[in-house]
Amino acid sequence: MENYKCKSVGIIGSGIQGVCIGLQLIKKGIPVTLFDRHDPLSSEYKPASYGNAGHFSPYAVLQFNRPDILNDVPKMILSSYGPLALKWNYIPKMIKWFVHYFKNCNEKSMLHTAKYMHQILSLSNDAYEEIFQEIDTSGLIEKKGIIYVWTNKNLKSRKLEIKVRNDLGIEQKLLTQKEVLKLEPNLKPVFDAGVIYESAMHARDPHGILKQIFKLYLKKGGKFIQTNIKNIEQLTINETVIRSENEEYKFEKSVIASGAFSKKLTDQLGENIPLDTERGYHVHFKGQENLISRPVIFLDRGFGMTPMNQGLRAVGTVELGGLKNPPSEKRIKYIINCAKELLPQLGKHEDEWLGFRPTLPDFLPILGPSLKNKNIIYAFGHQHLG
Ligand SMILES: Cc1cc2nc3c(=O)[nH]c(=O)nc-3n(C[C@H](O)[C@H](O)[C@H](O)COP(=O)(O)OP(=O)(O)OC[C@H]3O[C@@H](n4cnc5c(N)ncnc54)[C@H](O)[C@@H]3O)c2cc1C
Repeated sequence: MENYKCKSVGIIGSGIQGVCIGLQLIKKGIPVTLFDRHDPLSSEYKPASYGNAGHFSPYAVLQFNRPDILNDVPKMILSSYGPLALKWNYIPKMIKWFVHYFKNCNEKSMLHTAKYMHQILSLSNDAYEEIFQEIDTSGLIEKKGIIYVWTNKNLKSRKLEIKVRNDLGIEQKLLTQKEVLKLEPNLKPVFDAGVIYESAMHARDPHGILKQIFKLYLKKGGKFIQTNIKNIEQLTINETVIRSENEEYKFEKSVIASGAFSKKLTDQLGENIPLDTERGYHVHFKGQENLISRPVIFLDRGFGMTPMNQGLRAVGTVELGGLKNPPSEKRIKYIINCAKELLPQLGKHEDEWLGFRPTLPDFLPILGPSLKNKNIIYAFGHQHLG
């Protein structure tokens, strides 16, 4: 076993997960082929890894499987001005996801998720730093911390978040309204208090970072094939096959890193994994990125703004509606209204974008071999934390 070295790996998906896995394997001398229906270097490339909020957020251990928000869910869904929305035609398809979600919406599961996300996230910044030493990150990353603000309406939830982070030893600095305004003087004081994660960094261009990592992967000998993958199968103990419409490609091991689209492939393997998507949106306010110096998230609204090279990116909300429903104009309007609530001086927006967070009901990613096919490795379900 000691001298064992994998002979070849195929990876489906060149989002941030796929390219990082590909790069690490190539660095170990293993031949790798990445597959994606879009070329990561092209302007058509717009998956979650392109349009996210750009936070590197190792503190974000709590997600939505929490008992404190359960009572508010119906109210949030029924309100057209809330952070959570449903595409009603999709509810029947999501019943299994909801059943698992409610099972995981208790204090024990919440703390389980927080503990394991903390383990993963504690390693993530060092892992990114290692990659950043090998790529040109100039103009792509800033280290100015990340601010969250809130009103006094949901203080019970805020107190819970602060406690869980304190218990896990996560660095956080609470701020009064005045202290937030000192750091971000252009904000309208519609919030009561906040927190800053001072050592957090943010991307000025998540797609730009991904492109640099992808180029490094190619430079080190990684292969890329632009095609839509239809099927994956483990043929023997040391052979897997990845099939497109017209071709098949054989590898010793294959990785499914296809984000929210991974379920289509895992269903074929007979593993009925309750992966679904939390849809999220962004718009850009071009030339207005200097209104804030760092990302600001308004927790009551489930939305945030990040200064990026493309402009001020207003981004967020969670919409449960699957991969096929069209974008919701109402959600875009919601984000624009939220942005203007904090920064009334904002002008016209551009670039409306819908993205798909890959989310499991317990808000933990699946990382490791498939139960039924040991040579097929899963790497998806990174929800709000790619
Ligand atoms: C609105 C929003 C804001 C977010 N903000 C943040 C944030 O601030 N910080 C953070 O860390 N995370 C954030 N996230 C989450 C993060 O973006 C995702 O968790 C992460 O990008 C997922 O990466 P991935 O590689 O798994 O999937 P993706 O980026 O979705 O990539 C999957 C790739 O697989 C390809 N693919 C899928 N199926 C096939 C197939 N059959 N054949 C060929 N190719 C295929 C797709 O084309 C795509 O390129 C946010 C997400 C959204 C939507």
